[in-house]
Amino acid sequence: MTTGIIYTPKFLAYTNSPENKDRVSATVDYFKTQGIDEFISPRKYDENCAKSVHTPEYIDYLKSAGVIEGNKLRYQNVLLSAYGCLTAGEMLAEGAIKNGFVLTRPPGHHAYANKGGGFCFLNNAAILARYFQEKGFEKVMIVDWDAHHGNGTEAICYHDPSVLYTSVHQYPLYPGTGKVTDTGSGPGVGYNVNIPVPWYTGHDTYMEIFDEVIIPVGKKFKPDVLIISAGQDSHRDDPLTNLMLCSASYHMMTERLVQSVCSKTIAILEGGYNANNVARANYSIVSALMGKENNSPVEPNEELEDARQAVLQAKEVVAERW
Ligand SMILES: [Zn+2]
Repeated sequence: MTTGIIYTPKFLAYTNSPENKDRVSATVDYFKTQGIDEFISPRKYDENCAKSVHTPEYIDYLKSAGVIEGNKLRYQNVLLSAYGCLTAGEMLAEGAIKNGFVLTRPPGHHAYANKGGGFCFLNNAAILARYFQEKGFEKVMIVDWDAHHGNGTEAICYHDPSVLYTSVHQYPLYPGTGKVTDTGSGPGVGYNVNIPVPWYTGHDTYMEIFDEVIIPVGKKFKPDVLIISAGQDSHRDDPLTNLMLCSASYHMMTERLVQSVCSKTIAILEGGYNANNVARANYSIVSALMGKENNSPVEPNEELEDARQAVLQAKEVVAERW
């Protein structure tokens, strides 16, 4: 079975700086130089699919808004992005692909049930999670390594023990949420794992976070399917953030998750604002999904003591439940 890459040129049909189309088109160009030139177009779905996550009032607002944001960004663009995610999910459920990467825009992880934010309008990862559950994949794990906390996804899943949401994000940074002590509510306590990290946190600390927090928790949760909210703005060259990952980091995070937690994995593009580096980081993710070796160097970073403290604190909080 293959790795499915979901993409259509229709994802480039609007501009909304800095969430611009180069973020995706540069990846397509780079993938072609690496011999990847087969892309799967989104299938059509019932537009009510978003109601598994979003309120009818909010959907009506998006539908009636005309241009929602930026230049020519309309509800149909937002819906197409969600359809791309559902296509990957449906193909995985059918056994047509072994895993997948959705090279899509707009992103989704800042979208709440009743409002958008941060270039996000419909929550792609949450819509895919609910779709998987309809298809019989009861336990869903979401790993969000975008530099920004996925406040929308967290809120949607906060009470829900069937979806384990984990996020590593820069703090402080927009949207200001994602405290390590925010662990879920009601039956969902313990199923929300936040690992806020300080400025300049890089590869070595992220590997520690994966090896000592995310992977062990994932192994205990035993998800039926895994969704990666893959925002490559945690890369060292991103213009909006201050983290220090390199392209190799994305290969290693993906490989660890697929090999140790769940092979049934769909990665969805979230943020990432340096188009050339997003392209290389996206390639690292896809090559790990394909089972290829990492071919880019780990770039050294001086990890600071407060990054180590952040990991220790997360381990302490997680130990209460896991
Ligand atoms: Zn982001």
